[in-house]
Amino acid sequence: MAAYDVIVIGSGPGGYVAAIRCAQLGLRTACVEGRDTLGGTCLNIGCIPSKAMLHATHQLHEAEHNFATMGLKGKSPSVDWKVMQEYRQSTVDSNTKGIEFLFKKNKIDWLKGWGSIPEAGKVKVGDETHEAKNIIVATGSEPATLPGIEIDEKIVVSSTGALTLNKVPKKMIVVGAGVIGLEMGSVYARLGTEVTVIEFLDHVTPGMDKEVQRNLQKILKKQGMDFIMGGAVQSVETARGKAKLTYKARKDDSEHQLDADVVLIATGRRAYTDGLGLADIGVETTDRGVIKTDDHWATSVKGIYAIGDAIAGPMLAHKAEDEGMAVAEVLAGKHGHVNYGVIPSVIYTHPEVAAVGKTEDQLKEEGRAYKAGKFSFMGNARAKAVFASEGFVKILADKETDRILGAHIIGPAAGDLIHEICVTMEFGASAQDLALTCHAHPTYSEAVREAALACGDGPIHS
Ligand code: FAD
Repeated sequence: MAAYDVIVIGSGPGGYVAAIRCAQLGLRTACVEGRDTLGGTCLNIGCIPSKAMLHATHQLHEAEHNFATMGLKGKSPSVDWKVMQEYRQSTVDSNTKGIEFLFKKNKIDWLKGWGSIPEAGKVKVGDETHEAKNIIVATGSEPATLPGIEIDEKIVVSSTGALTLNKVPKKMIVVGAGVIGLEMGSVYARLGTEVTVIEFLDHVTPGMDKEVQRNLQKILKKQGMDFIMGGAVQSVETARGKAKLTYKARKDDSEHQLDADVVLIATGRRAYTDGLGLADIGVETTDRGVIKTDDHWATSVKGIYAIGDAIAGPMLAHKAEDEGMAVAEVLAGKHGHVNYGVIPSVIYTHPEVAAVGKTEDQLKEEGRAYKAGKFSFMGNARAKAVFASEGFVKILADKETDRILGAHIIGPAAGDLIHEICVTMEFGASAQDLALTCHAHPTYSEAVREAALACGDGPIHS
């Protein structure tokens, strides 16, 4: 039985980052992981493999749609699905091995197996019980399905199965127009699959800026994805390798059926805490299994902390990472802090979508007077040169103080552009501060500056 200062359960972006920071701060640290490789959902079956597939299929899209216009002629590439799958797996492997290297470098013990907490201060892995002054639960999340729909990961799949299908399907139904559904839907649409997205609500990507939602749906439709909005899925039946999905149109309750080779259920994820024994030791969770924590990630049991997808807040890797760093600082007697008001969210479709801070709807609800500065990528020379002028940057700033309150981008490299706004928000800067900052030409970032200018005397290029 080894005694640790900290045992982290789960090695996803929350857990592995917490473990590394704990070790860097001088705490004797172990991390329990039941999966064969480190890195959690994000590195193994989430962020990284999905981005690899989005990258590969985007290259195909470029070759098919834009190469000839640039004078690049010849046979367009065909898809070797097996090699594409190997490429996906190789990006996963290099990243998960990278975490293993970082664990060794920081002298973190990887306790291999599934952990449980028999009591505060103890973590059981297999037959061994390890002692720790503090425990961090970072066990993440799992796909949520709809009542009565069973995921077999072959015909009816979660995002995990969608990443590893044994062939490109002819027809795919994506249930849920959230981030994961639209990203995976894009991958298959670019590969030639007939993709139909069915969404309960009347808009895609719930919670995002309305204009962005409308634009994104329009653009994805142009790229060949079909959308059924306001459809309540009733059931999915499988027979002879095919699926039949039944849904009701919410507007008139009429019932409809769709056939497909694969149905992807992308209706969200739920906190995963199975097998930890939390209820037995008194760690409080919500009725949806989300671990309750205070502002310092402490649970209701002394010495047990929780972070990442297993607790409240957006289920995002970088949110989990920030909590991982912050909780490590708390355990080392420092002041860990996460600014939940400045957590960007990104959709890696093409074009990308990114947002941070408040939406117009939220500001209206709060009764806060604001101004919106908007700039279209049509006025951005670089975007036009590379066939990426769809979309816009919108910056929301306080009407009186000009302080930036939020930003919403749909366009090229939106997921990178958003960070300049995150930094300005962290520094409490105004739209004018951003507008007065020299931006290199020709870059997509100039569109961000122009949107900031639009909050004041107006942009130049529109
Ligand atoms: P996880 O990454 O889920 O890791 C938890 C780990 O704990 C797992 O490895 C699990 O095996 C282990 N574990 C659980 N219980 C035990 C136990 N009892 N004992 C030992 N080990 C245990 N987020 C983004 O920010 N950007 C993206 O682009 C993005 N894309 C995504 C794409 C897909 C397809 C999916 C599914 C998710 C995506 N996400 C993305 C979400 C992101 O993956 C999660 O928010 C993130 O992984 C959460 O990190 P975590 O550390 O809380 O948990």
